[in-house]
Amino acid sequence: MGKTELADSVRDTKMLFSRLAKALGSNGVLTGAHITETYTSDWGKDRMGRCLAVVRPASTEEVSLVCRLCSDAGVSIVPQGGHTGLVGGAQHPDGDCILLSTQRLNTIHQIDPDNLSCIVEAGVVLESLQTSLAERGLQFGVSIGSQGSAQIGGLVSTNAGGVRVLHQGMTASHVLGLELVLADGSVVSSISGLHKDNRGPDPLRIAIGGEGAFGVVTKACLRISPQWTSSATAYVGCASFGDALALLRHLRMGAHEVLSAFEVMSDACLPLARYVDPTLIPPLTAPVHVLVEFCSTMQLPLDSLLEAALASAMEDDFAQDAVVAKSDAQAKRLWALREGLVEGHSRRGYHVRSDVSVRLGRLPEAVSSLEAMLATEYPGWIAQSYGHLGDGNLHFNALPPESMAEAEARSIGTRIEQRIFDIVLELDGSFSAEHGIGRTKAGWFRQTMPERFELLGRIKGAFDPGGVMNPGCLLPVEGGS
Ligand SMILES: Cc1cc2nc3c(=O)[nH]c(=O)nc-3n(C[C@H](O)[C@H](O)[C@H](O)COP(=O)(O)OP(=O)(O)OC[C@H]3O[C@@H](n4cnc5c(N)ncnc54)[C@H](O)[C@@H]3O)c2cc1C
Repeated sequence: MGKTELADSVRDTKMLFSRLAKALGSNGVLTGAHITETYTSDWGKDRMGRCLAVVRPASTEEVSLVCRLCSDAGVSIVPQGGHTGLVGGAQHPDGDCILLSTQRLNTIHQIDPDNLSCIVEAGVVLESLQTSLAERGLQFGVSIGSQGSAQIGGLVSTNAGGVRVLHQGMTASHVLGLELVLADGSVVSSISGLHKDNRGPDPLRIAIGGEGAFGVVTKACLRISPQWTSSATAYVGCASFGDALALLRHLRMGAHEVLSAFEVMSDACLPLARYVDPTLIPPLTAPVHVLVEFCSTMQLPLDSLLEAALASAMEDDFAQDAVVAKSDAQAKRLWALREGLVEGHSRRGYHVRSDVSVRLGRLPEAVSSLEAMLATEYPGWIAQSYGHLGDGNLHFNALPPESMAEAEARSIGTRIEQRIFDIVLELDGSFSAEHGIGRTKAGWFRQTMPERFELLGRIKGAFDPGGVMNPGCLLPVEGGS
């Protein structure tokens, strides 16, 4: 860019922000020192992004205006919810963009108990929605560890999974309709509130898991359900991931309707929870720890049903030991171990993170191949195998030796990531089970799924012909990685 062009571009950008500030109020546009790390970094402070401004519209009309003005000025738009996403989708490395924060789009417009649906703005935090629904004896079926920050728009845009997928499905299965603002500012809605609405395919569903590349989700109509009235939680020790799988099979055959969560953690993961709370001690010792939850809307004796199922699993030798929580407080404490270890990884520092899936029957093989690879090729690194076993979803993380400098760990970490990717593909698995593609996996996506990549690119062209919506996320930009 020549000097004159640069001066023109700076003047245009200044003009854009002054127009936006006029329309949205000074609180709606943050520039310079007002752009804090809260916006530019991800949850774990692992990835830092940059931007020209943070723009915080408070209504669909304002989002529409922002998109139209930015498109006209050729400035890219990176939508951002609670920035808990783990693949860098809401952080732009180059900074020639605005961050469109949905923070102020936080109204719950409707909760309809007869229709079992709700209409919420994109910036509503998942936990706030759950609280409002619980007050009415209702619930939303997605449960993730980041629910205190993650927003509905983020959940939809990443098609988030979480701990209830085996019972309730991923976010996509809860979306009845969406309101989407396209790059040119047009507002398109498929929100009818109808459970059955087969008037042709809904093109807006491309935004589910679309990671902001197709438009800004401003509202969602979500399927909800009655709140559970009985539940039971158990912590089980197994000798291996193979035995944990046998336990899952056993529980499914006898209690499929009420089995609402089945989470696994290798023993090496548990000390990590103590980075968050030093008093988090597992109630038993075993090579593999399993959290099992039964839930129902009926008043069922789930504690005794779960106890009986576990007793027979112990007789058959695929469970070594088990503790059934005697109160809600005890159940919460058991869940804190599972949730704590995720935060513990971040508190410990840089680590390799993965989110892979294989067909359920191959999960034990995936764990042993990945752990063997780390032990033989990268001695000193600590394997962390945990995840949503009920969905064949494994988070295989690798912690560098504590004495290793971060720069060296990051460089080796890239090679470990590639090895994880290779092993999972050999097992016909997926290198992204629930976190999405974002920026960190966009290169792999293009490399391994060229037909899907090419078709998505064509569809993107219809939604965003100028390519201003979250460039480089999901679909890498030409010449990029
Ligand atoms: C402790 C922890 C536990 C987690 N557990 C799980 C888990 O169990 N399962 C799981 O699936 N994920 C999990 N995650 C990942 C993350 O929480 C989810 O991906 C979540 O859905 C992201 O929501 P967010 O509002 O933070 O989105 P952000 O991180 O802000 O954004 C994520 C992506 O969506 C886009 N986006 C956000 N809002 C919009 C919008 N309104 N319109 C268009 N695009 C938008 C962004 O551009 C970005 O590409 C976890 C994360 C943490 C930190």
